[in-house]
Amino acid sequence: MTDPTHTQGDAGLAVPRRILGFERDAAGEWIVRLACGHRRHVRHRPPLSDYPWLADAAAREARIGAAIECGRCGRGELPADVAECRTTDTFDEATLPAGLRRDRTIRAGGC
Ligand SMILES: [Zn+2]
Repeated sequence: MTDPTHTQGDAGLAVPRRILGFERDAAGEWIVRLACGHRRHVRHRPPLSDYPWLADAAAREARIGAAIECGRCGRGELPADVAECRTTDTFDEATLPAGLRRDRTIRAGGC
């Protein structure tokens, strides 16, 4: 059965994450800053990467708060500036506490 919160995108298994803002890299390519702490390049190069709204500042602004897939979350990667504070017991699908099933945010300021 397919998990509806995960989609198959151009980066493989991806998880929808909220867009916090946009920035450009040294080459002028657009990067989205995501609520999960990851950054992701976004390019309008159809048909594989279809983001025609990237070229318009108002359209980009309108996307803040919307979801876009994060392949790094899909692969379980931590953002570069995040460190593991502590670990818990190992859980399985039967023993995972309900609190760990909800969306979580990353604590600001570190451990
Ligand atoms: Zn992510």
